[in-house]
Amino acid sequence: MTKPKIIWFRRDLRLADQAAIVAAAASNGPVIPVYILDDETPKHRVMGGASRWWLHRSLEELEACLQAVGSRLILRQGPAAEQLAEIVKFTGADEVHALHHYEPWWRNAERALTKTLSGEARLVLHDGNYLLPPGTVTTGAGTPFKIYTPFWKALRVHMPPAEALPSPESLAAPDVWPDSDRLEDWNLMPTKPDWAASFGDHWQPGTAGADANLEAFVDKAAQYDEGRNLPSEELVSRLSPHLHFGEISPATIWNKLAGQGTKVETYLKELVWRDYAQNVIDQFPQYGGESYREKMRALPWRDMRDDTVKADFKAWCEGKTGYPIVDAGMRELWATGWMHNRVRMIAASFLIKHLLIDWREGEKWFWDTLVDADFASNSVNWQWVSGTGVDSNMFVRIMAPLSQSEKFNAGDYIRQWVPELADVGDPYIHDPEEFGCKPRDYPRKIIGHREGRARALDAYAQVK
Ligand code: FAD
Repeated sequence: MTKPKIIWFRRDLRLADQAAIVAAAASNGPVIPVYILDDETPKHRVMGGASRWWLHRSLEELEACLQAVGSRLILRQGPAAEQLAEIVKFTGADEVHALHHYEPWWRNAERALTKTLSGEARLVLHDGNYLLPPGTVTTGAGTPFKIYTPFWKALRVHMPPAEALPSPESLAAPDVWPDSDRLEDWNLMPTKPDWAASFGDHWQPGTAGADANLEAFVDKAAQYDEGRNLPSEELVSRLSPHLHFGEISPATIWNKLAGQGTKVETYLKELVWRDYAQNVIDQFPQYGGESYREKMRALPWRDMRDDTVKADFKAWCEGKTGYPIVDAGMRELWATGWMHNRVRMIAASFLIKHLLIDWREGEKWFWDTLVDADFASNSVNWQWVSGTGVDSNMFVRIMAPLSQSEKFNAGDYIRQWVPELADVGDPYIHDPEEFGCKPRDYPRKIIGHREGRARALDAYAQVK
């Protein structure tokens, strides 16, 4: 009799274009889909609160999709290697199929699993969560790329990706299923207080939500080049959490949009930033916790033990800095688990430069509050803004939040997310204090732009 195969789901919660499922189902024997909530494998970054909310909803949908093809989802909690080894023993499975992931803890879990299985069954890893696996495209010297633009050019040559693999029509069930946890018992959803209460108004986690967002974006894709910088308009795809959790493959997105010709090239380039970020953490697994540039590690950040610094950080997190564009972004983040990319850049720059607070504090806050929190994309973007990373040194490029707000026409966006400013018109909305408006309950700027800029440049002068 054909031995059962296990499918180990991680951040690839879909049935379509899922190479691990196709391989596991190919033997026509029983298939056992498994998801493990693993907060324990060494170096594991415990998922943040917003991600846990998403995960709960996404697993519910995955379970329903599996039931529709005659299967189910086994849930376990604990170190992945131990849990999988136990399921292998119970079921007599001879293969564990999974997609490749590049976070350092997943590498550790894969090594631990191979060791624990000790030949009893084998772990088979497949590609498919990225356009190309990290390390596939290399420089002329055969080394992985460190800089985005040459990476993009080299990857572009290999596109388009292969057509999507089909979803299974059915998956054979084993005679006896291994034990499973109940999703409700994992307590992934916040309760008291339910700070994620409004997330559901903005998102539909799971593959149906991903497909819907892609469909909605197809007609807008040609406007993306200009529209992507305008937070008041809905001209970006909002696919990031779906991509992060693997509810849709990047190849599916590429193939759907690339047919639209050169107008969508800017979008495809952005999509490749996601691949680039994996390419970086694959080379530098410590990237999320340490500035890549050695001299920047000595930058004299303000001390987080100081009460004034703590108060400034709190004002940033709560969207009460007195800078409307920054505050709108931080409140959008809290209310929806997501923030527009242009505003992410402005808010991150404000924390790092105007407030001179270590980028790692901001990275941690985003990690906890973003529904698309991604070890690679988050750390690569934070290090990009702070000029501490492998790419260009951006520290001295200090974004002026007030003129950015005006340039990118953020008035409606601010009015939406900062109710204290709902009645303030353009152009006052970008900098009400400067125009002498005193909207009730809206704070004064916690630091002046020139003052913040000068302090940041002084700090930089000490390490450059
Ligand atoms: P679109 O503009 O529609 O882009 C399509 C897709 O391309 C995105 O879904 C995303 O997968 C990818 N993409 C676009 N821009 C980037 C980028 N700069 N880096 C990596 N991938 C990109 N993105 C995350 O997915 N997770 C994070 O944790 C994250 N943290 C960030 C932190 C900071 C400080 C900054 C400045 C950016 C961060 N980003 C992160 C990148 C970017 O802001 C989001 O990917 C984007 O806003 C998601 O919205 P969208 O799907 O509508 O993007």
